[in-house]
Amino acid sequence: MQKTAVVLFLIIGLFACTKTTQNALPRTPNVPTERVLAKNVILMIGDGMGLGQITAGMYANGNHLNLEGFPIVGLQKTHAYNNLITDSAASATAIACGVKTYNAAIGVDKDTLPVKNILEEAEEQGLRTGLVATSTIVHATPAAFIAHQPMRSMHEYIADDFLKSGIDLFIGGGMKYFNSQRVRGNSIIPKLQQKGFTVSGIANEELEDVYLGNVNKFAYFTANDAPIPTATGRDYLPLASIIAANFLKRNTKQGFFLMIEGSQIDWGGHANDTKYILTEVQDFDRAIGKILAFAKKDKETLVIVTADHETGGFAINPKSRRDSIIGAFTSSYHTGTMVPVFAYGPGAELFSGIYENTAIYQKMRQALGFDLKEKGALINPK
Ligand code: MG
Ligand code: ZN
Repeated sequence: MQKTAVVLFLIIGLFACTKTTQNALPRTPNVPTERVLAKNVILMIGDGMGLGQITAGMYANGNHLNLEGFPIVGLQKTHAYNNLITDSAASATAIACGVKTYNAAIGVDKDTLPVKNILEEAEEQGLRTGLVATSTIVHATPAAFIAHQPMRSMHEYIADDFLKSGIDLFIGGGMKYFNSQRVRGNSIIPKLQQKGFTVSGIANEELEDVYLGNVNKFAYFTANDAPIPTATGRDYLPLASIIAANFLKRNTKQGFFLMIEGSQIDWGGHANDTKYILTEVQDFDRAIGKILAFAKKDKETLVIVTADHETGGFAINPKSRRDSIIGAFTSSYHTGTMVPVFAYGPGAELFSGIYENTAIYQKMRQALGFDLKEKGALINPK
């Protein structure tokens, strides 16, 4: 009898205790929410790649693109601070730095003050970083991820900003802006080498022949000026993309941030040249295929594919067939329609829905866990 009473007392006590605890703590404080962070982020920007360009590229490619392998799709609003129709500088600054700014701004806000970008934050957190493009590497899109200049046309000043950066790899055109500088009067390539860069280029050796075994920092120039279109022989983007991902993954405990741009889809739009658009979308998609395969194997990499804006108001007109797309254009400049965002990997779910281009910056920080640390102040204006 006594034993039963004790057990009963214990049960009642336990129940009461549990109840009290639940009343005191109705929710779950101190229990960390389950967030799976990405170790690496690879951001791929198809310049001027709207839904029309993607669709046409897909039909022309036998009704298939690697883009179809992305489970999450969203839409972003591309408008600039001072203009509903953005240019590539303002939109790249929005994505890289998280601020709406004026057209032609490179990594600066509407008052021309420098704003820290995602690549600089990644460096501060110990990640390795890289940029790959099929334009010059000082062109607006890659420039916004490394430089802080009031005008996109300040190419040599943008090249100088590479010296101030902790970047580990860059591959693209525009060697002339580093080589003999009109503004500075001498080449800054020796200074890159002093910073530990192995500098090479198409004039010396093919990208696939470069031995990277003991290379710590790598710069490769694919052209002296702008690289040629893929239709006339440029084919380095898929190879450069996978070389960059493997290079940055090597020797890093913290992870890496890599931006890859298919730069010339935009140039096809400006030229109102359907064939130019199709071949550039397909080239960019081959790079996407390489990166998606890398991420599937790696399992710690978030891959985001988007555009900075649409170019040309490109449409697929009646009488088009898969093997002969009849493109039509409303403009030889950019348009204001939203552009898609595709995401794969840890943190991908953050990218569904409709949001501003500046939100991509916030979402990348969230995926990497940078929002758990405070963002540093604006870097000092020069
Ligand atoms: Mg661009
Ligand atoms: Zn453009």
